[in-house]
Amino acid sequence: MRAVVVSSPNVFSVQDIDVPRPGPNELLCRVHRATICGTDVHIVQGEYPNFWPQEWPHILGHEWAGEVIALGQGSEALGWRPGDRVAGTSHAACGFCRKCVTGRYNLCENFGIKGLHSQYGHNAPGAFADYVVHSVKSVFRIPDAIGYDEAAMLDPAAIALHTVKRGRLEPGSTAVVIGAGVMGLLVAECARALGAGRVIVAGRGQRLVKAEELGNEVIDVTRLDMVDSIRSTTGGLGADVIYECSGDPNALGSAVEAARKGARIAVIGIPQLESSFPLRRLVLDEIEILGVRASAGEMAEIVPLVLAGMVRLQPLITHRFPLEDFSDAFSVFKNRTDGSLKVILSTGL
Ligand SMILES: [Zn+2]
Ligand SMILES: [Zn+2]
Repeated sequence: MRAVVVSSPNVFSVQDIDVPRPGPNELLCRVHRATICGTDVHIVQGEYPNFWPQEWPHILGHEWAGEVIALGQGSEALGWRPGDRVAGTSHAACGFCRKCVTGRYNLCENFGIKGLHSQYGHNAPGAFADYVVHSVKSVFRIPDAIGYDEAAMLDPAAIALHTVKRGRLEPGSTAVVIGAGVMGLLVAECARALGAGRVIVAGRGQRLVKAEELGNEVIDVTRLDMVDSIRSTTGGLGADVIYECSGDPNALGSAVEAARKGARIAVIGIPQLESSFPLRRLVLDEIEILGVRASAGEMAEIVPLVLAGMVRLQPLITHRFPLEDFSDAFSVFKNRTDGSLKVILSTGL
């Protein structure tokens, strides 16, 4: 089969490799569509040494949809059949540690230990390939009304939903999303779906135009001061919940400044540098900062929201490439060519 193999930082190609075999409680799936994630760029660039991945070479990709081809031992008893249409997510956690048994498997305490924990496309082989093997924990059935394009985006959409839930969004409240990339736009969708009264996206460029087309209020940070704008549009009070989706380490300080008393700030963008913020304001105004890592149970929750049209995925798809043109697809995504947002890889099915 074909697979996108990264042999060392910034060195990758589409190679012919053996089709993997499913082990106990695993499924072999035919990948129909996969999409490129911001994290893929950082992995390719070798920014998480000895972690994502723990060793090279590495098969990239963790956002995908396809169909079940073959069942590993035990999968049939868990209800799986060849031909099932599925979407994948990256975490296959141990299921035994305290975090796993309390439902927070995204924080598995056996992270990265071979045989106990896999994060596909990060520390285990991923889905930029014709076939992929996943644990039954990491695949979710999709209804016929959701096509493979959208299904391949359910993983990041579930992460957006997890982000919004971490911020404990209350009905009618004002949510601010910092960053108008794919994750920011998905978080905006989920915030509206969960009852935000106002959703304000702060960003720049063509992505911000897209944010406005999708019905969000917008702040162009190239022309306006973000903190002043948020304060003035909320009667001086600040935002109830702020979602930091840009990964800019300076954004956290601005978020604390722009937060209403008692507000929550959920951070999904992974900054490459340390960050500082006004600690006194955090203490005296009881502002909460919450980290967000991937998703934990939201794959099953995002499906009905997408089906109901409450979370729109299609408008975020800007480009499509066949799998063998991965190099072009990667460069279009990484360089934001032509306002690229979600770039879809197709295996030809
Ligand atoms: Zn991702
Ligand atoms: Zn665990």
